[in-house]
Amino acid sequence: MAKISVIGTGYVGLVTGTCFADMGHQVICLDIDAHRIKQLNQGIMPIYEPGLKQLVDQNVSAGRLAFTTNYPTALKDAEFAFIAVGTPSNNEGEADMQYVKMVADSIAHNLNHPIIIVNKSTVPVGTGDWVAEIILEHNGKDTPKFCVVSNPEFLREGSAINDFMMPDRVVLGSTNQDAAKKVAELYEALRAPIMITDLRTAEMIKYASNAFLAARISFINEMANICESLGADVREVARGMGMDKRIGPAFLDAGLGWGGSCFPKDVKALAHMAATRGAHPQLLQAVMDINQNQRQRAVVKLEQSLVGLDGRRIGVLGLSFKPNTDDTRDAPALDIIRLLIEKGAVVQAFDPQAMQASKAIIPGLILRDNPYDVAEDADALLLATEWNEFKSLDFKKIRTLMRGNVILDGRNIWDGQDLYKLGFKYMGIGVPSPEE
Ligand code: NAD
Repeated sequence: MAKISVIGTGYVGLVTGTCFADMGHQVICLDIDAHRIKQLNQGIMPIYEPGLKQLVDQNVSAGRLAFTTNYPTALKDAEFAFIAVGTPSNNEGEADMQYVKMVADSIAHNLNHPIIIVNKSTVPVGTGDWVAEIILEHNGKDTPKFCVVSNPEFLREGSAINDFMMPDRVVLGSTNQDAAKKVAELYEALRAPIMITDLRTAEMIKYASNAFLAARISFINEMANICESLGADVREVARGMGMDKRIGPAFLDAGLGWGGSCFPKDVKALAHMAATRGAHPQLLQAVMDINQNQRQRAVVKLEQSLVGLDGRRIGVLGLSFKPNTDDTRDAPALDIIRLLIEKGAVVQAFDPQAMQASKAIIPGLILRDNPYDVAEDADALLLATEWNEFKSLDFKKIRTLMRGNVILDGRNIWDGQDLYKLGFKYMGIGVPSPEE
C-alpha cells in the first residue's frame, strides 16, 4: 500500500484522497484553508457530494485517512504528492496558476526524499515542466529524485465517487515512463483502461475533452434555437441524433447551457492558450458565445411573456450549476437572476443545497424554503437546475399560489401539454409551445 499526500482538499482532492484511502492506501489530505481542515477533522463535510461523508468517516475510522494544514506532516514519507488545487480563470481568461505555484514552492521547500508529484488540477499545457523547474531551481544539485506525472481528473460533481472508482479511462502523462507506471499501479485495482502518454499530451487531453463536451451542449442549444423558429422539437431531434452510434445520446440535452467550475474556465483557458500562440480558436469562441447567449435568451423570453420585468416577481427553482452539487461557480441560474434583478424584477428562489452560497453572491436574492413558497405570488416560474425533487411537483397547487401563469422550463423536464391544460403559459427550450 502506498503513502499518498493530496494537496488541495476541494471537490477533486477530497474525493481523490478518500477513494485512494478506501482502496487501502495511507492518505493524508492537506489544505491551506484551516477552517476546512478543522471541519474535516470534526467529521463535518465542507462540500456537498453524495456518499462522500460516509466514505470519509469510514476511512478516518480505519486510520487510513487524515487531514492537515502542515506541509512537512503531509509530505513526510509520502511516495506520491497529488496536486488538486483550483485553477480558476483570471481576467484575461487564462488559467490562474497562483495556487499551483504556491504548491510547487511548498513542495520544493519541504522536499527531503524521493517523490512522484502527480498533477490532477486542470492546468495549461507545459505546467508539468514548469512545476519541475520550480522544484529544481529551489533545491539545485541537492534536489532529491522526483518526477512530475500529469493525471487529469474527469470526475463530475454529483457522481464524483462513482466516477473516480469506475472511470472510463485513467490518463497519465510523463517524461518518465517508470514514474507513470508507478502511478498506474495505484489505479490498477479499478480495472479501467489506463493510457500512458507524454506530459503535455495528457494535459491537453483534459482541455480537449471538456471543450468537446461543452461544444456538444452549445451545439444542441443552437439546434434548439433553430427548432424554436421552425416549429420542431429539439428533444426529439436529440433522440433521433443520439441513436446514431457515431453521435451517441450523451450531452445532447438542450437547456440554459453549461456552467460550473470546469467547462467555463477550461474552454476559456484553451482558447487563450491557442490565441497566444497565434491560432484562431473560432469554434471555441462560438461555443462560449452560444452558451452566454442561452442565458440572455431566457431573460428575453421572460421579459417578452411578462411584457417587461420591472416590478415582476420571478420564482427560480435551482441555483447550483447542476443537480446534486452545492457548487454555484458560474451557474447559469445566478447569471440569469442577476440580469433579472438588473431589469427590476424581484427574484425568490429555492435550491436543495446551494442557497447560502447563492445569497452570498447575490445579496438581493430572496431565499424560500421550498418550491411552493417560490411559486407564491410569482408572475413567472423559471426552472434553472433539474434537481430530481423538481420533476414531479403539484402544479395544481402551484397554479393557485402564483399570481401569473408563465413557466419557463429551462431544462425541459416538465410536460408542456399537461401544464397548458392546467392554465399555464408553458415555454421550454427548443420545444413547440403547447397551444401551437
Ligand atoms: P476547489 O476550489 O473545490 O478546491 C481547491 C482547494 O485547494 C481549496 O480547498 C483550496 O483551499 C485549496 N488550496 C489552494 N491553494 C492551496 C495551497 N497552496 N496548498 C494547499 N491547498 C490549497 O477546486 P476543485 O473543484 O476540487 O478543482 C481542483 C482542480 O481540479 C481544478 O484545476 C479543476 O479544474 C480540476 N477539476 C475539477 C473538477 C470538478 O468537478 N470540480 C473535475 C475535474 C477536474
